[in-house]
Amino acid sequence: MSGERVIHDSGDAAPPGTVDAAVSTGHLPGTGDVEAALAAAWERYREDDSGEVADYIPALATEDPALFGLATADVHGTVYRSGDAEHRFSIQSVSKAFVFALVDQALGHDTVRRSVGVNNTGLPFDSILAVELNRGSPMNPMVNAGALATTALVPGRDAEAQWDFVRHGLSRFAGRELELDQRVYASEAAANQRNESIARLLGSYGRLQGDPAQVTDVYTRQCSLAVSACDLAVMGATLAAGGVNPLTGRRVVDAAVCRDTLAALASSGMYERSGDWLYEVGVPGKSGVSGAVLTVAPGKAGLAVFSPRLDPTGNSVRGQRATHFLSGALGLNLFASAPHADKEG
Ligand code: GLU
Repeated sequence: MSGERVIHDSGDAAPPGTVDAAVSTGHLPGTGDVEAALAAAWERYREDDSGEVADYIPALATEDPALFGLATADVHGTVYRSGDAEHRFSIQSVSKAFVFALVDQALGHDTVRRSVGVNNTGLPFDSILAVELNRGSPMNPMVNAGALATTALVPGRDAEAQWDFVRHGLSRFAGRELELDQRVYASEAAANQRNESIARLLGSYGRLQGDPAQVTDVYTRQCSLAVSACDLAVMGATLAAGGVNPLTGRRVVDAAVCRDTLAALASSGMYERSGDWLYEVGVPGKSGVSGAVLTVAPGKAGLAVFSPRLDPTGNSVRGQRATHFLSGALGLNLFASAPHADKEG
């Protein structure tokens, strides 16, 4: 039950000097094949109107449910797009992956695991019960409790400095200056009682650094940054490329931080459906209630799909279906291997 149990000390992982050199990756198919796969995914799911647009943040309910955009950015900086790939929407929970990466970079592998955790709660993303059941442990950075605890750890002397750190950090992942969507921010800030309660509850357990109201405000701003599917694909490609943004060529975080972040995504990025996701799609992913699904294929690419209609867990329906299709078409499943020749056959 405890989120603090340490299975292996990071020092046991591998002999010094081998960690970043030992990688397990391949290549995307050729340009024409990637373009054709994205176009095929768009065509295949464009009529699919299952799911409901999120409305617990009133501004999200006004989004056009028909929007459907797909983008892939490879680790060399080529961006492929289909449909509404340039449409801007609020990043919401997908921000959690990148704020976690920045905090891991600043504080280190062991500190973030001890302070936040990396195990799935098995409960919805905004669960208060999960905090209680785990004696105040936020459990993982991809649910609201863990994301609030992670944002609380962002370096900075006050909330404004922390917000600057977050905005600039996420902008470095995207390769352009990201801006706040003021309308979404105002709407979420006015309907934020649940997140404020989670922050206060964590505070009561001594598991939240700083003032709960201020932490919640920085977290709400991070969720309200405006991005497109293309931006998310580039952000994902930066995690796939050992922390170097393939558009700008600049290092954002270390390769070891990318590895930590993808592990946290694999366990918890698709909320309580993360196991199903790995079983079906086989790539670490992160979804957000505005309708984005971002997946990261290490050494290959970031893949983002935006479609606002969600399933009951908060994952975009077309986002999941299109990503599943593309994971197969582009050979992204991390657990797939080609059979060796059968010596008896
Ligand atoms: N800002 C949203 C919230 O705190 C993010 C949730 C999500 O995208 O899963 O509820």
